[in-house]
Amino acid sequence: MGTQQYTQDGLTVPYIAWWTGEREARPRLLIRRHRRLSRIGYADESLHDLDGWDALWVRHSLGRGVGRARFDWVHAMRQRQTMLHGYCQICRGPATDPRTGRQLYVVRGDKPIEEGRVTSAPPVCTGCAPDAVRSCPRLSPGYQAAYVEAAPAWGVFGIRYVPNTIKPRPQDKGRLVAVEYGDPDLRWTIAYRQCVRLHGITPVPDVLTLAA
Ligand SMILES: [Zn+2]
Repeated sequence: MGTQQYTQDGLTVPYIAWWTGEREARPRLLIRRHRRLSRIGYADESLHDLDGWDALWVRHSLGRGVGRARFDWVHAMRQRQTMLHGYCQICRGPATDPRTGRQLYVVRGDKPIEEGRVTSAPPVCTGCAPDAVRSCPRLSPGYQAAYVEAAPAWGVFGIRYVPNTIKPRPQDKGRLVAVEYGDPDLRWTIAYRQCVRLHGITPVPDVLTLAA
């Protein structure tokens, strides 16, 4: 694949990690008419700002490897790319096991991954799974791993806006909120992360031994 790998403080930097040299653009927001409905939009919007489900995406500049990596925040385009194409979030190699067709997911929490679980954590390849567990601060309190047969797109994590004012919803307190494709809120959301739904779950008790 030829994707450059970076390390920082002895840890592998995940492909999807945010770098301090990257910037979030703040285009002017306005209300647009789209498919006969009003929605939030950019003043200088292009087709590249929308995904295949009409979600509007945040604009992050590309500067992977510039500055310092932040392990606690992800780059929207790289996260989305790994999710939709089944790439490993650490090395950007294929995350699908060629023998079984399944993908490995590692998610935060102490309850086993259940059928239909929605997640914004992209898959990992078997070789990178131990690195993922060690380098991701979100997983340090506890995590669950499973092989998954299918992971169709479900929606996004994003910032929801108030239609009249085009300001973020105060009750969300700046947090990213899960919005399903087809939900009317999607038209007033700026997406930061792709979410998928996990189907055909086979739990993996100990991912640390996988690469051995
Ligand atoms: Zn990998």
